[in-house]
Amino acid sequence: MVEENLILKLMASIKCGICGQCYEVDNISVLGHQQDLWFLSAFCSACHTRCLVAAIVEEGRVPKVITDLTEAELERFRNVDTLTADEVLDMHHFLKDFDGDFSRLFNQR
Ligand SMILES: [Zn+2]
Repeated sequence: MVEENLILKLMASIKCGICGQCYEVDNISVLGHQQDLWFLSAFCSACHTRCLVAAIVEEGRVPKVITDLTEAELERFRNVDTLTADEVLDMHHFLKDFDGDFSRLFNQR
C-alpha cells in the first residue's frame, strides 16, 4: 500500500506551472485514488493558482506525474485530439462529478 507521505513528498518536489514556485506540503491535498492512479489538489501560495494533479504511484517505483494542469489549461486542451488530452478530460470530469464518497467509488470496480 502506497503511503500518503510518499505522495506528499512527490508533490512537494513539483513546481507550480504558472510561477515556478514549489508547492508546500500543507497546500496539497489527496483527493483519492483508483488503484495506482492518485488524484491530488495543489494550491500555490505564491500565485494562488489551484492545480489538479494526477500521478501514477506504484510501490517500489518512482512516482510519475501525468498532469498538473490548472482548470484554465484543462479547458484549453478540450479540443486537442490525443489520448493524453482525453485522459486529462476524463480526470477533469471525474473530479467535477465526484461527490467525495470514496467508499462508493472503490466499490464500483
Ligand atoms: Zn504559482
